[in-house]
Amino acid sequence: MADPILEVISLTKCFGAIAASDGLTFSVKRGTIHGLIGPNGAGKSTAIAQLSGELQSDAGRVRFDGQDVTRWSVDKRARSGLQRSYQITSLLPEFTAEDNVAMAIQSQQGHSFRFWENARRDHSLRTPSRKILERVGLSDFADSPVMDLAHGQQRQLELAMVLATAPSMLLLDEPMAGMGQSESLRMMELLRPLKGDVTMLLVEHDMDVVFALADMITVLVKGQVLVTGTPDEIKGHPEVRRAYLGD
Ligand code: ADP
Ligand code: MG
Repeated sequence: MADPILEVISLTKCFGAIAASDGLTFSVKRGTIHGLIGPNGAGKSTAIAQLSGELQSDAGRVRFDGQDVTRWSVDKRARSGLQRSYQITSLLPEFTAEDNVAMAIQSQQGHSFRFWENARRDHSLRTPSRKILERVGLSDFADSPVMDLAHGQQRQLELAMVLATAPSMLLLDEPMAGMGQSESLRMMELLRPLKGDVTMLLVEHDMDVVFALADMITVLVKGQVLVTGTPDEIKGHPEVRRAYLGD
């Protein structure tokens, strides 16, 4: 494959007798959205956690951006640009959307939590914070406290928080989970244009979303890769239809 940003090589993780991931091998091309799909329990979240560094792998390797990151911590991977998406629980509800983004930028610059209050007074963070809010469609809500934002807007802000860390690759485990149809359509429209800057590995159970967004798709079944292909190849794959789409 031309210029893979991520190479997953025989990655394995066992929980007792269960191999949640069992020799996963696939590559993600730079500047693409790569879908990761499969039935419940197929090992998608386990794979994401192994790639982010939250879970140590039992075997196999992960290469990111030309380096072997297999034994790297979550923080070291994040600093090198491989980043998992934030959770709403990491937002500070009484602060404005802009304050939250400013704090995320500042933490990226190596400041710890207790300095975050200062981010509000650091005017050099204003322009970059506003730019990021614009990218996630929240320009009009820069001065709104997070607790006043709708659920979907808070999810957009989560995306802003992770963009503030300037990732080159994002690991997204069901970013539309719990969203209504209009919110998830909005999130799709936000993710699509990001891919030039930010490669994405997207776990998503809604097949319409995956087929609409992904350039390539890897199908997992029982911890193993069934197939990696284009959306059209995946749609036409008889075993995928049988194992996953319910034919
Ligand atoms: P998916 O995200 O595709 O639904 P998971 O990665 O969450 O699948 O789970 C894959 C398999 O690993 C399942 O059988 C699940 O029960 C098991 N599993 C996941 N996490 C743990 C854990 N922390 N301890 C034990 N078993 C786990
Ligand atoms: Mg999961």
